[in-house]
Amino acid sequence: MMLLYIHVPFCRRKCRYCAFYSEPLRGDGQLRLWLNALLTDMRRQADALGHPRVRTVFFGGGTPSLLSPAAFGQILDAAAVCFSLDGDAEISMEANPDSVNAENAAGFRTAGVNRVSLGAQALDDALLNAVGRVHDKAAAIAAFRALRTAGFDNVGLDFIWGLPDETLASWKTQLSEAVALGPEHLSCYGLTLEEGTPLFRERASLNFPDEEESAAMYEEGGDLLESAGYKQYEISNYAKPGRACRHNLGYWAGEDYLGLGPDAVSCLNGRRVTQPSDLGAWLSAVDAGQDAAETEILGFRERVEELVMLRLRTAEGLRLDDYRVLTGRDFLADNRSLIDALTRRSMAELRNGRFFLTRKGMLVSNAVIEQCFETIPTTTEVDV
Ligand code: SF4
Repeated sequence: MMLLYIHVPFCRRKCRYCAFYSEPLRGDGQLRLWLNALLTDMRRQADALGHPRVRTVFFGGGTPSLLSPAAFGQILDAAAVCFSLDGDAEISMEANPDSVNAENAAGFRTAGVNRVSLGAQALDDALLNAVGRVHDKAAAIAAFRALRTAGFDNVGLDFIWGLPDETLASWKTQLSEAVALGPEHLSCYGLTLEEGTPLFRERASLNFPDEEESAAMYEEGGDLLESAGYKQYEISNYAKPGRACRHNLGYWAGEDYLGLGPDAVSCLNGRRVTQPSDLGAWLSAVDAGQDAAETEILGFRERVEELVMLRLRTAEGLRLDDYRVLTGRDFLADNRSLIDALTRRSMAELRNGRFFLTRKGMLVSNAVIEQCFETIPTTTEVDV
C-alpha cells in the first residue's frame, strides 16, 4: 500500500518568498508535454512496483489548479488503471485562488478530486501584494465559495504568518475571517526566508514580526483555531474532527509514497528517490525510458532520524515502542534530561506510551529534534 504524489511544476508567476521548484507557465503545449510524460512515467513505475494499492493521491505544486479538469480526469483514470486505487481514496489538490472559478471547480469535482487545499496565504490585500501573490482577498473568498458551490465538502485554507508588516492583531483578524468561512482544514505555516528568493535578499529593509510577536502569532493563532473547533494534528495543521489530511498523516506516519513529476520525491522500501528539479531533464529522461532520479538508500541512522523528525511534528508524537523496535533502545533513557526540561516547562508530555510536543514545544520543534538526533545510536541494538 502506498500514497501517490503528483508534482505539477507550473505557476503563473513566482511568489516573492517561494523556493519550491516551479516554472512559469508558457502555454498549453508545455502542459501537454508534462501530462504525456507523467502518464508514461506512471505506467512505467506502476509496472515496476507491481501495481500496488494506493489510498491517497495528492496533486501538489506549483499550481495544480492551472490544469484543466480534463487533465485531472486523464490522470485519475490512468491511476485507476495503473494502481489498485481505493474506492474511497482521498484525492487532494492544491489550488490557487486566481485559477479557481465556478466552471473549473465543478469540473475538478466531476473528475474525482474530493479535497482542495486553497492557498489563500493571507486575507489582507497589502500583505498579499507585499509577497507577490497574484490574487487578492476577494479572489480567495470567491474561490472558496466556488468550491463549495461545486460540491466540495472538504476544503482547506492555507496561510503563511509572519509576513512583512504583519501584526498579531492582523493575523488574528484574518484567522477569524477564515474560520467564518467554515473550512474543514487550516494550514498555517510560519514564513521561512529561503535563500535566493527576493524576500530573502530584501530582508534587511523589511519589517518582520520579532521573536516575541511571532511566538504569540503561533500560540494565540492556535488557541483561536482550537476554540473554533479545529484540532491541531501537526505543527502547522488544524482540522475539524475526521478532516485531517489522510495523505499527510500517512507521510508523517512513515508510509511508502511514490512521487511523479519533476522534483517529486518517493520513499519506497527504504529508498528515497528524487526526480530532477528541471522540467527539461525530467521530460528527456522519461522520453528516453531512462531514470534520471537520484536514489539514496536510507541507512540505519537516516531511518531513525526520519522516525523522530516526522513523528515529533505530529500531535500524536513518537510511539516509544516504535523507537525501541527500530533501535533496540529506550528513547526516554537516551533523552532523559531533555525530556525532563521540556515537560517541566509544559513544552512536551508523556502519555500512553507516546512522547509528544505541546503547542509551546512545537514552536521550538527544530531545536528539540536536533537534540534528539544527538542521542541516536550509530547502529541498531536489535538482533537482525
Ligand atoms: S503559487 Fe505556490 S508554488 Fe507557485 S510560486 Fe507561489 S508559493 Fe510557489
